[in-house]
Amino acid sequence: MRLLLLLIAIFVGVKFLIPRETMSEIPKHLVNLKTDEVNWKEKDQSYWRSVLTEEEFKVCRDHGTERPFSGEYCNTYANGEYRCKCCGELLFSSSSKFDSGTGWPSFTEAAKKDVIKYVEDTSYGMTRTEVRCARCDAHLGHVFPDGPIGRDGKPQKRYCINSVCLFKE
Ligand SMILES: [Zn+2]
Repeated sequence: MRLLLLLIAIFVGVKFLIPRETMSEIPKHLVNLKTDEVNWKEKDQSYWRSVLTEEEFKVCRDHGTERPFSGEYCNTYANGEYRCKCCGELLFSSSSKFDSGTGWPSFTEAAKKDVIKYVEDTSYGMTRTEVRCARCDAHLGHVFPDGPIGRDGKPQKRYCINSVCLFKE
């Protein structure tokens, strides 16, 4: 009996010691859902308000920007895949993540072709390229041509993405 209690204590202790990064962070509304069978484009703002937090809604569905250096994935480089917080689509991989020094998670490329939608954004007197999730139209951030130098000697892209729009697996 004492041994059993000891084993339980060790198990519980180990569970708490596992770093947060290694645990799955699937949003509640995506758990046990076949996300590729949902028509995400049909979802309206009231649906998004009901499943997202206020901050997630503001950034993903209302084109907001999280404060620099405030996001969960700003300084995270452990292996994993980054998915859309709204619809679960695979968007970026840790293999293309780099430290841009900007305060937002930055990637040189998308995880797959066609998962990103590019939209010209002329707000704030600038011309930038907004990036959205192609599947659910969530705002993710912007892409710039000034990423790290690649093997071909040319700068790669810099996808500057809000942490709050992603979850990591
Ligand atoms: Zn999405």
